[in-house]
Amino acid sequence: MAYDTDNIFAKILRGEIPSEKLYEDEDTYVFMDIMPRADGHCLVIPKTPCRNMLDATPAQLSACLNTVQKMGHAVMKAFDAEGVTVQQFNEAAGGQEVFHLHYHVLPRHEGVGLRPPGTMADFDVLKAQADKIRAALA
Ligand code: 5GP
Repeated sequence: MAYDTDNIFAKILRGEIPSEKLYEDEDTYVFMDIMPRADGHCLVIPKTPCRNMLDATPAQLSACLNTVQKMGHAVMKAFDAEGVTVQQFNEAAGGQEVFHLHYHVLPRHEGVGLRPPGTMADFDVLKAQADKIRAALA
């Protein structure tokens, strides 16, 4: 399947749609998920195009996973979490909804389940949570 340059994350990368940015380096960009399934739920994406893991290059995968590890530490510190869940979906049948490679990074606490998908965040709350993650990265 071809990469669609009009997918929402491509628009975020081009600055056409706002995002609550947490971190970026030469190869990756990280921002808050707009419908978080846990406090601190963020998304790591490569800056270059690919649909998902199936068409990604080794360099894209490696850059993303390095940033996923960095963000895992940051969200655990920011939310005093005991663990972190990383999710990554491939194609619609695999649960993917946005077709630009992304990794979900979710801080976790013992005995606390993920919230159901699809509820939009309060933007003030999202920004306050992003501030905590940015402070943990500093
Ligand atoms: P997936 O493709 O892995 O199923 O999930 C896509 C994720 O992107 C969802 O968790 C959804 O909440 C998030 N998402 C969808 N549209 C936007 C958006 O415009 N901005 C942000 N920050 N996240 C989005």
